[in-house]
Amino acid sequence: MENVVIIGSGPAGWTAALYAARAQLAPLVLLGRQPGGLLTTTSIVENFPGFPEGVDGYELMTRMQKQAERFGAKTSFAVVDSADFSQRPFTLVVDGEKVIAQTVIIATGASHKHLGVPGEHELENRGTTYCATCDGALPMFRQQPLVVVGGGDSACEEALYLTRFGSEVHLVHRRDRLRASKIMAERTLAHPKIKPVWDSAVTEVLDVAQGKVTGVKLKNLLTGAETTLACAGVFIAIGHVPNTGLFQGQIATDENGFIVPKQGTMTNVPGVFVAGDCADHVYRQAITAAGTGCAAAIDAERFLAAQNV
Ligand code: NAP
Repeated sequence: MENVVIIGSGPAGWTAALYAARAQLAPLVLLGRQPGGLLTTTSIVENFPGFPEGVDGYELMTRMQKQAERFGAKTSFAVVDSADFSQRPFTLVVDGEKVIAQTVIIATGASHKHLGVPGEHELENRGTTYCATCDGALPMFRQQPLVVVGGGDSACEEALYLTRFGSEVHLVHRRDRLRASKIMAERTLAHPKIKPVWDSAVTEVLDVAQGKVTGVKLKNLLTGAETTLACAGVFIAIGHVPNTGLFQGQIATDENGFIVPKQGTMTNVPGVFVAGDCADHVYRQAITAAGTGCAAAIDAERFLAAQNV
């Protein structure tokens, strides 16, 4: 019987693990399909307090893991197949094995949103990607025109990163103003290699017949005019969807699938807590995820104390 099982290993999961471990609850962290979470695919994190020079996303997550493990957090690379929250203790099926838990902290984060246009899926890993840090340096993108889709901080970060490799970077955004923070937007628009394409949507990724990305079809959303833009890569950075499908029907979510916390980090099921981006469509920062991870661990500890565990 585990005191606390933490599902997910991003900043929320590791911070919950650190606090639960220091409370001597020996939490079990299930790392999930992407150990370390989305932050491991970021290059430099400049806004996590305590790192004035910035810190590599992968390094930050590795440090968080080490810190939690130092105090007794247990880790497993296993993936949760199913969760039964109908009675306590809860039952998770993890890589086919049952794990029984007094409390669970859901910290499953979010995944990249897809455009859903023809060619996008077919050309994934053949020029369509969701991660410049992971794929930007590939030979196929070197000194080639590239396209980034989106207008938020992620799109700006991807575009700036890709200027190291591409001949030029076209930033395709559906409006005429970036959503990104002022500092990122200014840095992006000032870069000589980045060319914004405003009020436009990618309607197709070309060319499935050739088995690689050769361009995108664009539609100007104001005029309806359709054009083709040649490129070797399409980097899609249009936001995220919460990883909460596993808990559907048991844990209350909003219409977009984000878990709705109440009274701090509690969910609708007593003993199941939530932290990080799977419950946050507003802030979505590493530091806010870490903050809610801390809160969830404290809430779980108090819940267990009240049950005399
Ligand atoms: P985001 O802020 O939600 O931005 C998503 C962008 O994609 C928006 O510009 C949106 O357009 C566009 N978009 C959404 N759906 C689309 C669709 N179907 N087709 C075309 N465009 C679409 O997401 P994000 O950039 O991933 O950022 C998420 C959070 O992480 C934010 O809080 C951000 O500040 C944070 N973040 C911070 C950093 C940093 O500080 N260095 C880096 C990355 C992310 P509209 O603008 O029209 O809605």
